[in-house]
Amino acid sequence: MNTYFRILRFGRPYGRYAVPYFVCILLHTVFNTLMFAMLIPIIQAMFDADSMVKAVTAPPAFALSTDYFKGLLNYGLYRVAGAGYNTKDILLALAVLTVVIVLLSNVFRYLAQRILENLRIHTLQEIRDTLFDRVVRLQVGYFSNERKGDIISKITSDVQVVQFCITSTFQIFFKEPFLLIGYFGLLISISFHLTLFTLAVLPVIALVIGYIVKKLRRSATEGQEAFGEMVSLLDESLGAIKTVKGYNATGYIARKFRWLDGRYSDIMRYIARRQQLASPMSEFLGVASLSFILVYGGNMIMNGELAAAAFITYLGAFSQVTRPARAIADAFGNINQGIAAGERVLGMMDTEATVCDREEARELVGFSEGIEFRGVSFAYEDKEVLRDISFTIPKGQTVALVGPSGGGKSTIADLIPRFYDPAVGAVLVDGVDLRDYRVESVRRRMGIVAQETVLFNDTIEENIRMGNDRATIEEVMAAARVANAYDFIMATEHGFQTNVGDRGMKLSGGQRQRLSIARAVLRNPDILILDEATSALDTESERLVQESLGALLRGRTSLVIAHRLSTIQHADRIIVIEAGRIAEQGTHAELMAVEGIYRKLIEMQQLAG
Ligand code: ADP
Repeated sequence: MNTYFRILRFGRPYGRYAVPYFVCILLHTVFNTLMFAMLIPIIQAMFDADSMVKAVTAPPAFALSTDYFKGLLNYGLYRVAGAGYNTKDILLALAVLTVVIVLLSNVFRYLAQRILENLRIHTLQEIRDTLFDRVVRLQVGYFSNERKGDIISKITSDVQVVQFCITSTFQIFFKEPFLLIGYFGLLISISFHLTLFTLAVLPVIALVIGYIVKKLRRSATEGQEAFGEMVSLLDESLGAIKTVKGYNATGYIARKFRWLDGRYSDIMRYIARRQQLASPMSEFLGVASLSFILVYGGNMIMNGELAAAAFITYLGAFSQVTRPARAIADAFGNINQGIAAGERVLGMMDTEATVCDREEARELVGFSEGIEFRGVSFAYEDKEVLRDISFTIPKGQTVALVGPSGGGKSTIADLIPRFYDPAVGAVLVDGVDLRDYRVESVRRRMGIVAQETVLFNDTIEENIRMGNDRATIEEVMAAARVANAYDFIMATEHGFQTNVGDRGMKLSGGQRQRLSIARAVLRNPDILILDEATSALDTESERLVQESLGALLRGRTSLVIAHRLSTIQHADRIIVIEAGRIAEQGTHAELMAVEGIYRKLIEMQQLAG
């Protein structure tokens, strides 16, 4: 129930929708009921025309009775055609009147539908926006636990189901009951007696349908989960399409996809079967009960208790009664599905960021001393990765991390922008725990150039800016020059306006890397983190990138992770990380002087090179 109300809140402000919707539906109901009521005079005019003609020369006194409407019709005809009108004129007048009523009824239905659509789209937008905001604010760790595809499917597909909660609620509260009331009003006005009989039938229909749709909720959840897995696989295989093809693994991936798709389809088939069953079932029950009414009402006619025209109208109206009743049952089913999806969506929305600002957190304003790791230990879930790491990076110096792969270098680097928080110990900036600063103010002072450069499908200029709207285009160009990227950018078709393609596919590895360096230059950070920035490059691009990195590093405080040890020999301090601990540290010369890991690594690389 809680989920349901929380979902409803996304449709706010309701005043904008509910009131006009309600008015339109009310008018639609009135005209729709009138439309059926028109059957009585029309049938009468056809079979017993004379009883309809009655000279009326003055407007009749208002009363809610057939006589009043008959009088009004006759008076109208008298005004238009004079005293000499006949029964054919009556029929014509009734036809025109019916057309007008039907038109009005449908105009209001259309307007109501439009309002509901607006509400639906507005809600969807609100939920998606909120969800995206929340998700991107979550800590990096969340994304290694949750599958990306699942997140994507929640934002795209689940949200589509959640909207049913709102539209169906509107139908249940503002639409169908009034149609029911309208129809029942008509039914009762024709025969109270017969209507009592009818009332006994409807709950039976409602119960049957309720049973059918009840089980939908659990299947809906399963369906959405299966869909999420499918999107995950899509994301993974399309993201790594070269690997998939290179390893001739298309068959493997396709089989996996077929299996997931098959499972999803089975669930959807089951849901569809149940949903589709509801409609013919209620139709059948409706008509079956109509037959009872036919017998019962037929007897009343034979006994002279009911007029034939009235009975035909009654049957017409009754055949309509089951529709709103059915719609209500359907709406309950939809709301159930919506709640199931809503639980998934809200679950994600409620995930608390573990890396977030404390209440008393303050801005990191200047940066004057340096960064210190003080007794830091860290674990991914229960896998310990860092143990008792302590070192400092004084302002303006470069510290390099080297060591065997898997030792924990990237994890150390990730602690500085607070992608994760240490389990034990602290990372301090200017002597203050990072956790006492506002995260944004910390990250604002940092530039990160990683091995995997992330470019967005956008222009080169926007990729360098990366949200930095204040920089002028001249500054963007200057940053590109510092990063050795200017020349190749100008050589592309549209220069800075060239689109880089999906994930920067249209650029070479070295070019992508230089763009991300330009990005860091433009940001002009105090603190720089370079994670294996050149390890994926060939010698020529590496030279260009090295040059631009050199320009970037000048005068900044930096942590550099490097595989190629030749690139960090001039670092102020080199720290060798092995299996989560600091194994050695010192300058290049100091470390070469001892028989240690560093020296071994250097010798190995010299052999390989
Ligand atoms: P390095 O950068 O020295 O190669 P990393 O810091 O990347 O080392 O990784 C250190 C260890 O942590 C490795 O054993 C790796 O398997 C593990 N690891 C890295 N990232 C994650 C993660 N998101 N979840 C769980 N384990 C991880």
